[in-house]
Amino acid sequence: MIESRDPITSELLGQVPEMDAGQVASAIARSREASRSWSQLSIDKRCQQMRLAADTMLDSADEIVDLICRETGKTRVDAWTSELLVTAELIDYYLKHAGRVLAPRRVTSGTLKTKRASKHYAPLGVVGVISPWNYPFSLTMTPVVTALFAGNTVVLKPSEVTPMVGLAAARIFEATAYPDIVQVVTGGSSTGRCLVAGGVDKIVFTGSVSTGRLVAIAAAETLTPVLLELGGKDPMIVCEDADLDRAANAAVWGAFTNAGQTCISVERVYAVASVYEDFVKRVAAKAARVRPGKQVGSMTFPPQLDVVKRQIDDAVRKGAKVLLGGERPAGLSEMFFEPTVLVDVDHTMSIMTEETFGPVLCIMKVADDAEALAAANDSPYGLSASVFTRSSERRDRLVRGLAAGSVCVNDCLVNYAIPSLPFGGVKKSGIGRAHGPEGLYELSMVKAVAEDVTGLSSDPLWFPPRRVFEALTRRFIQARYRTKPGARLAGLLSGHQSRNAADRGLTTLPGTRATAARASDDAASRGS
Ligand code: NAD
Repeated sequence: MIESRDPITSELLGQVPEMDAGQVASAIARSREASRSWSQLSIDKRCQQMRLAADTMLDSADEIVDLICRETGKTRVDAWTSELLVTAELIDYYLKHAGRVLAPRRVTSGTLKTKRASKHYAPLGVVGVISPWNYPFSLTMTPVVTALFAGNTVVLKPSEVTPMVGLAAARIFEATAYPDIVQVVTGGSSTGRCLVAGGVDKIVFTGSVSTGRLVAIAAAETLTPVLLELGGKDPMIVCEDADLDRAANAAVWGAFTNAGQTCISVERVYAVASVYEDFVKRVAAKAARVRPGKQVGSMTFPPQLDVVKRQIDDAVRKGAKVLLGGERPAGLSEMFFEPTVLVDVDHTMSIMTEETFGPVLCIMKVADDAEALAAANDSPYGLSASVFTRSSERRDRLVRGLAAGSVCVNDCLVNYAIPSLPFGGVKKSGIGRAHGPEGLYELSMVKAVAEDVTGLSSDPLWFPPRRVFEALTRRFIQARYRTKPGARLAGLLSGHQSRNAADRGLTTLPGTRATAARASDDAASRGS
């Protein structure tokens, strides 16, 4: 059994079994059975059921928030906004737009005017969802509801650190007329491995880069597709023309909200030299007012505290200065950590290159925008980034240059709360996208349909081959695809092809008469 405990009080919240391969296989079988009816529902009928689920979630929102706070140690404001609000927004967005996004779509059939071409979106089947502990509700509900809207059923494995929230999330769907559409398997990495190997139709994994890599390797064995939402080391660039007050407020909130345990936390700030001192002064003043236990909750997972401490020690050993914090605060549970600001940092320090996932903000001085951009991109991660500037020209240049899945301008983290925006990373931060139409397409199978509209008993290009089509096709290709209008006309009249191409031998294919003739000429000239 796995125990779930309140990280602040250590109170036992519940116990769940560590499920084995047999139990996971049974859950997948139940899910597949449920998918037989769920996948056949029209999108309107599915939306009706999802409305029931949404109302059930809202009926029990207070209890869900209580449970989230007790199992993670986060503040109630964090739980209401980043867990409940973003989930409600996403469901609302899909209720309004999933029908349009997933409707069959006519597409051009090019020059094949006698064919009707369309794209149809079908469910994949059973989607395995593996979720983390840092936002145990929203990061569980996001893939679960997206999969359901797309017509799939789900087998969910919540984090072993926050299983009670995972179970509460799954219970919401019991209010629908299809109570088996979300199955839960509880346990840690071995249960997760069973789910990945269990024959589901796609795995949506949210977690660390190291586990994501293991999931991708295991999924490759069965060619199970994966969507990976992994870690980040998100940079913020503060330009010389930035509103420094707004930038400092954003950096402090972006680094310390949810005690920094956010995949898109602001972890590195690059401030250009001309505003660096002023910016650091403002950040220090604002960060000093952020109180652990009041505005900032506790850390959730004990080993994460060691990572934070180790990275700070490494940075200090290499010359970094702790401007604020750096310790556990007195008088609070040992799972709290003071909001910490570090300066004089550089990329030799692990705190500037590895994910910290704690309430730590590092500020580095850079000469100019170009140096800031190079430093921001000097990372194996590429989840999100933010830019503070008043200039639209600078904004465009930096947005273009940043290697990240999302960029916030004069803001941070807010991209996740806009459900129409795709969310996901580049480089080691992941593969694929959640949210928006892209999220639904990730969990759908697109079926290409080509339909004849002539009603003829045969097609002109079918057997037997007609020689006239060779000449016609030759003229057609030259007339239709040449890029210069004059050449198109010449092509239509003569089936003309450029002499240069013929001279260069580009038109003689192996096995054609011309090739054979040239081969025999060559043989003759060698006298053999
Ligand atoms: P983790 O990788 O330790 O665990 C994530 C999940 O994977 C858990 O449910 C765990 O039980 C399961 N798991 C562990 N080993 C497994 C295996 N071999 N096969 C299958 N499943 C396995 O991550 P975590 O500590 O729970 O979460 C924190 C990490 O998640 C951070 O790195 C954070 O950046 C990342 N994260 C990313 C996003 C995003 O959307 N990009 C969002 C939140 C968190």
